[in-house]
Amino acid sequence: MQTTGSRRRNFLAGAFLLFTVLNGSGAAVAARAPLSNVPQLLDQAESLRARDNARFVELLQELESHVTELSDKQKWRLHYLQGWQAAYNGQEEKARTLLESVLKQASDSDLKIRATSVLIHVLGVGHHYEEAFEYLDKALDDLPQASDKEARARILGEASQLLSEAGQYDLAAGYAEQIIAEYPTGRHNCLGHMYELHARIRAGQTKIANETFQQSITPCLAVGEKLAADILRKDMAALALQQGKSDEALSLLQANYEEVRTLNYSELTADFNILLAQAYWKKGETSLAQKYATVAVDAASKSDLIEPLVKGYQLLYQIERQYGNLREALAYHEKYVTADKEHLDDTREKALAYQIIKQQIEAKKVELGELNKQNQILQLQQALDHKAVETSRLYIALLLTVLASIAFWLYRLKRSQLRFMRLARRDGLTGIFNRQHFVEEAEQALRYVAKSQRGASLILIDLDHFKNINDTYGHIAGDHALRRAVLICQQHLHSSDVFGRIGGEEFGILLPECTLIQALERAERIRMAMQAQPDAETEHVPLTASFGIASTAHYGYDLRRLLIAADSALYRAKRDGRNRVVVSMDNQASSSAASDTRAQRDKLNDAPPYMDASE
Ligand code: GH3
Ligand code: MG
Ligand code: MG
Repeated sequence: MQTTGSRRRNFLAGAFLLFTVLNGSGAAVAARAPLSNVPQLLDQAESLRARDNARFVELLQELESHVTELSDKQKWRLHYLQGWQAAYNGQEEKARTLLESVLKQASDSDLKIRATSVLIHVLGVGHHYEEAFEYLDKALDDLPQASDKEARARILGEASQLLSEAGQYDLAAGYAEQIIAEYPTGRHNCLGHMYELHARIRAGQTKIANETFQQSITPCLAVGEKLAADILRKDMAALALQQGKSDEALSLLQANYEEVRTLNYSELTADFNILLAQAYWKKGETSLAQKYATVAVDAASKSDLIEPLVKGYQLLYQIERQYGNLREALAYHEKYVTADKEHLDDTREKALAYQIIKQQIEAKKVELGELNKQNQILQLQQALDHKAVETSRLYIALLLTVLASIAFWLYRLKRSQLRFMRLARRDGLTGIFNRQHFVEEAEQALRYVAKSQRGASLILIDLDHFKNINDTYGHIAGDHALRRAVLICQQHLHSSDVFGRIGGEEFGILLPECTLIQALERAERIRMAMQAQPDAETEHVPLTASFGIASTAHYGYDLRRLLIAADSALYRAKRDGRNRVVVSMDNQASSSAASDTRAQRDKLNDAPPYMDASE
């Protein structure tokens, strides 16, 4: 009795052998190629693998020893062949590792499909049905892109066999029909017929005419596929037996029994033996039935084949019971029950694996549909978001426009304010400070110099006989003369000086950090310039001015006091004959005409700067 573990290879083990034999057959044995022709060597190896496995192993070893000389593509092909050999040797783990590495890393899609078909076998043999179906499902998805006809046929064949094992007979027959359609002649056509009939028989179809079998056997024999032909004959015999045609079954089995033995394909041999045993049993030839049943059970035990084992034990139990050997009968019955349970479990496992994968695929489809819907929602959302962004952008643009308008409006307001302020500070005719602003600026300058006691001087200027200018030359000439006077003054100003029009034809200059004597000199220069400077337009208009000067040295930093003092000096200048500069030193302003400015200066020099002369 075998252990459960050793019987694990029952599923597809036969199919795997079938696969190897079939793939190997028909290929000519090529002459040994030098390693220089690696592609040829690889082709040779692949064609030899099942037909002359020993030679195949040699070729593999040769290629392995020169692995560094191989291109990437050739290396992956070698890996695939090594995986195939491992599977052939029943080294499931090694085969799996090698074939999965080909699937993951090789770039040749046809090689990957070939590797997948072997891997599906390996997984089935190892009872990894779920994974086998998973790979099958993926391979079938990729199949439309497969250009390698051999690889296509292998995958379709795998699909038919695996689905048949899982009880999906219609699907299995469908894939078989696809093979027949794609390959109207040749080896794959033969295999397609074999898979199809196998699926139909397993599905319980009993009305299959002998001609149908013959129509399938003939093309197989035409391409030398003896094994496929005998598998078909086995199915044909089984069907005849089911229909009570024991003689027909028996003659078919007997006629091909020897050929099957020479093929050395254990599953088929076991099946033939079981069928022979059953046929003899039906005919009442119990001893022959027992003989073939025993042979079948022995072979099935050695090759881990569960189905012939179940049938064999069942028949042996019936035979022993008929013989009245109850002990033996009970022993066989126990073996039969155990094997049958295992067989049923295995069948259920396969069917369940298929259902699980089918469910998973359905779930994936639903998931994909859901994803698509989610995608659509997302796209809608994005479209909406896009609209929202557009709207937001519009709002932002609008807001920015409003803000820009407000900013522009504020700017214009500020500018006009500034303009008004400037206008309010400036004299309209001459552009210099008006009286009000002159007073403000002069006071600020005085406060500034007062802090450091640096002193300042104030000059008041009044144009002489200006009424006469207006009266004689007109107001426009008068205005021009006013502007001319301002221009002359400006030519003598320093940057820190405060200059303003404080009356009709009266001007004030506050000179910070300027002593009385310095102020006298500067006033004198302005007076001279006014009197002398020719003017292209108003050369004929005489222009002179009188100057009154007061200093903080005598009157302190109060502008009002300075103005009064300067004004009294100015009055003195007018009174003394105009066109002159008079400095005010306390009550007695020092007056001088243009001629005696020097005397005035000398007098001033006696007093220390910034100090009231009276002190
Ligand atoms: P004095 O030498 O004593 O100062 O004689 P004056 O004629 O200058 O004296 P007064 O102050 O009496 O006359 C000032 C004149 O200046 C009166 C006014 O017509 C004239 N005036 C004042 N403002 C302007 C102005 O903006 N343009 C013109 N063209 N004349 C002005
Ligand atoms: Mg005046
Ligand atoms: Mg005047």
